[in-house]
Order: sequence, then C-alpha cells, then structure tokens
Amino acid sequence: MYETHYRTHTCGELRLEDRGKTVCLAGWIHRCRDQGGLVFFDLRDRYGLTQVSVSKEEYPEAHAVAAGLKSEYTVQIEGSVLERPESARNAKLATGAIEIAAHRIAVLSLSPTPPIDVAGKEEISEEVRLKHRPLDLRRAENQARLMMRHKMNRTIRAFLEERDFVEIETPILAKATPEGARDYIVPSRIHPGKFYALPQAPQMYKQILMCAGYDRYYQIARCFRDEDLRADRQPEFTQLDMEMSFVGQDDILGPIEELLSRCVKDVAFCGCELPRPWPRISYDDALKQYGSDKPDLRFALEIVDLTDIARDCSFKVFRGAVDGGGAVRGIRVPGGAAFSRREIEAFQPVAAVHGAKGLAWMKLGPDGASGPVAKFFSGDELPRAMQAEVGDALLFVADASTEVVALSLGAVRLAVAKTCGLIDENAFAACFVVDFPMFLPDGDGGWTPAHHAFTMPVKEDLAHLESDPGRVRAQAYDPVLNGVELGSGSIRIHRPEVQQAVFRAMGLSEEIAQDRFGFFLELLQYGAPPHGGIALGLDRLAMLLCGAQNIRDVIAFPKTASAVDLMADSPSAVNQEQLDELRISVDLPEASPGAGRVI
Ligand code: ASP
Repeated sequence: MYETHYRTHTCGELRLEDRGKTVCLAGWIHRCRDQGGLVFFDLRDRYGLTQVSVSKEEYPEAHAVAAGLKSEYTVQIEGSVLERPESARNAKLATGAIEIAAHRIAVLSLSPTPPIDVAGKEEISEEVRLKHRPLDLRRAENQARLMMRHKMNRTIRAFLEERDFVEIETPILAKATPEGARDYIVPSRIHPGKFYALPQAPQMYKQILMCAGYDRYYQIARCFRDEDLRADRQPEFTQLDMEMSFVGQDDILGPIEELLSRCVKDVAFCGCELPRPWPRISYDDALKQYGSDKPDLRFALEIVDLTDIARDCSFKVFRGAVDGGGAVRGIRVPGGAAFSRREIEAFQPVAAVHGAKGLAWMKLGPDGASGPVAKFFSGDELPRAMQAEVGDALLFVADASTEVVALSLGAVRLAVAKTCGLIDENAFAACFVVDFPMFLPDGDGGWTPAHHAFTMPVKEDLAHLESDPGRVRAQAYDPVLNGVELGSGSIRIHRPEVQQAVFRAMGLSEEIAQDRFGFFLELLQYGAPPHGGIALGLDRLAMLLCGAQNIRDVIAFPKTASAVDLMADSPSAVNQEQLDELRISVDLPEASPGAGRVI
C-alpha cells in the first residue's frame, strides 16, 4: 500500500458487480462490532458506508489492528469484495449487498472518544453541536443538508447561465449602504480613524453595474447586518443577488418563479413540485386576508372582514372598534365546535402578542350558535359571511387599529392551522406580495423606506412623493414560500431628480445625501438605464428545501443567537499591538468584560 494512493473506491461505491475485486478504501470508523474470531466495522466517508470484516484465522495481523479500532479513527483498508449472504444484506445501504474481507488495515489517525456520537441517533444539544461543529458536520443529516445546499447553488448557477447572466463579485470592504440595519464596520490601518462598512447587500454596486452596462448581473453574495438576532437571522448570510436592465416587474418575477420552482423540483428533500402560476397578492390584501405580508398559502383559511356587519350590531366591543375607525374581522376554526372553552381560549394569548385586547368567539352546533358573542347575532349573517358550517367555531378580533386586527388574526390563523393539522409539511406554496407602500412611519413623525431608498415609486404616485409620502406605493415585490419571506426586490430609480426627491421625503438633508450618495447621484446623470432586481435569502431557501426548522442547520459554521462562533470562540479580543496599529483604544468596564466600548 502506498500512501500516495489511499483508495481505489469510495465508501459509497461498491456493488454486487464488484465482487471478487481487490480494493482499497479509506475513511472513518463509524461503528465496530467485535465478535471474537471476526471483527466487523462500518467504514464511512461522505459518499456512504461500507461494511468491513476481518477474520482472526485468515489475517491475524489485520485482526489484531481491527480489535483495537475505535469510533472515528481514520483507517485505510485493503481487502476483497465479497457478496453478502441474502439474509445479511442491508437494503437501506447502497453498498448493502457486499462487504469487504480486509487483509490489511493501516490506522491513519487516532481519536479519543468524541464528545459527539457521530453514528448515534440521540438528540444532542445545539450548544454541544456548535462547539464541536467539525464532528457534528460528520453526521449524516448535516452532510445531506450541505450537499443539498451545494446542489441548490449549482441549480441556480445553471439556470442563470442558460439566461445569459454574468457573475460579478463586489467588494466586502465597502461603504455603508442604506439597507436599514446597523453596519459592521472595519477600521482602516492606513487611514486611522476611518472605517469601511461590510456590505448589508451589494445594492449600490449592482445598480452601478447596470449603469456601467453589465445587464443581467448576479452574485451569490455574503452580506452582513449587525442586528439583534432572531431564529431565522444570522449576522452574516448569503443572498442570490440579481439585477437586470431595461426591465419591468414581470421581467423579474417570471424568471424568479421559474428558478424557485426548479429548485423545489430538483433539490427539495420532499420531492414535490411548486404549484404555478404563483398568485400575486397586494400588500394590503395580504394583510387583510392573511394578516401577514408573508402569507402561508399551504392552507386556505382566509380572514373575513365583518366590519360592515358589525357596524349596526348591539355588541359594544364590535361597535366601538368600528366607530373608532378600525375593523372587525374573523376566522373560522374548522371542526372547532368540538373544542372546549379552554382550547378555544388558548388562541387568546396568540392574538394578544400583536395587541388584540380580546378574542371573541362562538361555536356553531346543530342547535345553533353558542359562546359569548352568539347572543348578539341571532341571525346567521356571521356564519354566512365566513362560509362556516355546523361544527365550526368562529374567532373574532375587533380593534380601532386595523393593523392590530390584521396582525393578531394573522398569528391566530397560523395557530389554528397548526392545531387543526391543516399544514401539509411536505407541500410547498408560494406567492409574490406586490404593491408595497413606499414609506412607513419612522415613529418620530417622519418616513422611512419600506424597502430601500432606491426603490422606484409607482408612476401614478410620483406626484405625492413629498406632499403625502404615506400614500405612495412602491414598485417592490417579495417572493414568499411557505410563509417565509424569501427575499425582496424592486424596480429602481434611474432618474437623479426622483432619487433626490426620495431622499428629501426621508428627511435627508442635501448635505447628508451628497455625503453618503454623492457619487451615486452623479452617476445617475450619465445615462442610467431603467433597471430592477431582487435578492433571495439562500440560507432560508436551503432551510425550506430540506425541511429544517432553523437556518443554522443549513450553514456550515453558523453563529449562535448571540452572534458567537462557539467553535472558534469568536468574536475575541485582539492584542494591544493590533489595536495600537489601528489607533483604537478599548474601554472595558471592569465588571462586565465583553460589554466593551470601542472609542
Ligand atoms: N438589496 C436588497 C436587500 O438586500 C434587495 C434588492 O432590492 O435587490 O434587501
């Protein structure tokens, strides 16, 4: 055996047709079984598992080595391929019809008992898994997910290649862009006191590329946002970033629908297809009908507006909401008449999270309606409006704020679907949410862009840009898959005077706009083409395609919810010399190391 020639085959390769061959394999010890005269072990690499047997009688030397093998040792074996007797075959393994009778074993690396049982099935806490990530990544489920992710990227690249897209890289050491989150900043040693910003997205660069004539750009781009983390967020993440010239909204949404449908068909673990065409739902309708700007369409269950019916009713709570300019809406709980009062009231806290002060309800039994609200509605106008049947329960939220009503019922809708088992976990359903508002109130009496400052307003609304920003709609769109916002995009502003008007509507002074975006505003003067684009969150897409619950499961080296890499122990302190070079001094309060203030 020559070390330069470690293997003739991988551990997932050998089949019945290979019987009789002398082969050489290398990999990790997955599981060992010592049966005295015979030692069996499964050898593992990323291609699969192969069973190896070593006979004491025939190969005493190899047997002595095999008897000392432990899980996760790395070995090289040489032996011949045997057909397994019918009764000993393993139909679950691609190599399950053969085994290797080893005559030589070389131990390449040892391993103490690892903190993670790579071959085991038991649950391991995420903290342990992330701390020992290399061992965790050896486990089959993680290998399958990362392979899937590779296949997803390959599918995306092939799709875009077919359509003549050009892959162009943009800087990581960049300037702050207005994506709305906090920047990660990097000090410059050469220019003390000055900082780069890591890109929150390559937004300005891709628009510059359009101005430079590189129609149909894409990049699988790393992006960085220093935000408070949530379950489906990471401080660094990956986007499929795209931009096209001379396009309208349909020219972008068409290919995106096709691309995502292809990803589901070719890559998703469930092997299902994505129904097409995807519905396009306006932002206002999405909030009204589904209580969310990222509606989960794997189930129908629409929210029904009952404001007109409630206008003249005798139930004070409903009337009060209507009189206060708000709304009364309701949702059906299929089969909910069989629920106990306690089971129905369990939806109340779900609604309360979004500000609902209560959740009114009624049940529809064979003898008529019952429950707290029933007495106010003796006719069947509510059940009829909600297309409800005997056996259902009805839940209602009334509030002077339509937003509270929408979001509360949106959360209740998801909870009802879960409780009633309406979600097929193996199904996919997508839509585009369109016609977003251009601005949202910033909480201080001003306006902030709902998407970002480079989004083109709807043409008819341009006249109101500065006089009434709240009524301006944006040419922006979000693809949504299974209730997860997969990304967002927009047609961009390509005229400098419109861009300046948007900055003014945002309350940016001329100076600040010049300071931050001067070079970009100047560029727009030199024949900028109409253009638009989109960015898709690939971590989220990968998570959905493999049915994972968390984006950390589809990222090789993720950070925890508090932005820590437990494996490499980062972020970490740097030495004084490095700080001196950067002319940075760190002022750490004694009591709370880590809560440092960089000045
Ligand atoms: N740059 C935007 C974002 O990351 C997406 C886009 O407008 O293309 O949200």
